Amino acid sequence: MQAEADRARRGGTTGLVPTMGFFHEGHLSLMRRARAETDWVAVSLYVNPTQFGPGEDFARYPRDFEKDCELACAEGVDVMFAPAASLYAPDSATFINVERLSRVLCGASRPGHFSGVATVVAKLFNISKPHRAYFGMKDFQQVRVIETMVRDLNFDLEIVRCPIVREPDGLAMSSRNSYLSPQERRAATVLHRSLLVSERLINKGERDPQSIILRVSDSIAAEPLAHIDYVAAVSPETLEPVARIEDAILLAIAVRFGRARLIDNLLIERGKPASRLPLRAC
Ligand code: AMP
Repeated sequence: MQAEADRARRGGTTGLVPTMGFFHEGHLSLMRRARAETDWVAVSLYVNPTQFGPGEDFARYPRDFEKDCELACAEGVDVMFAPAASLYAPDSATFINVERLSRVLCGASRPGHFSGVATVVAKLFNISKPHRAYFGMKDFQQVRVIETMVRDLNFDLEIVRCPIVREPDGLAMSSRNSYLSPQERRAATVLHRSLLVSERLINKGERDPQSIILRVSDSIAAEPLAHIDYVAAVSPETLEPVARIEDAILLAIAVRFGRARLIDNLLIERGKPASRLPLRAC
């Protein structure tokens, strides 16, 4: 892969889309963006064991290698890097820890998760040497962790943030949506709906993060199949809570529906247009 990447870099710009597979439109949107912006597009497909905690869904994480290859091929991807063996030496001893950002939000309920993410992404960067790497804002905390790692360790590449791709009813696309029963799938639409309600409140002038958190929590809690992990209103830079909503705020939520733990978020920036999806049934 490194030899392939070297060859590609001599011929033009190169892009990497790191994934864990089971592709949906979210993944494909990243591939399309990379295809449009770089001469050579690599997609990595690796279900990374170090980012799963004990008791999490590593073993049952959905996989469909054949279909993923067809979908990536149809997007004009040049190389799919899908190592069958472990990417880690059995006595591997080096792990990357992006302090602070890794401990909040999802990091609080998934200790070690972001160290696993940062470490595998650093390895994938060294393996495929991209000029640009594409990440979805669906995993906003992951983007901030990777951006910070790239800055702190002087990785010579650009991180490209890509917008969240949603189902027609607003649910953010995720490989883990496949865990949902039909009832849970219907219930999960509460995530985006509640984010849109809070956006409307902020646009009407609400500046108190606590009242936004309460409103979002109340509307999620009204859905019996939903079990809240967290509802947060934080700085999009530091991911720390803010005392007052000023120019930019990230509303981030993690909620369990049965065996699926789903995350979603909304980045609200002053002067940027509000979400366009209708506020049906709010
Ligand atoms: P995953 O395979 O879940 O690790 O995701 C691989 C990449 O696709 C990550 O950068 C994700 O943020 C991105 N991604 C996943 N779901 C979506 C989505 N609904 N919209 C945009 N990007 C996404």
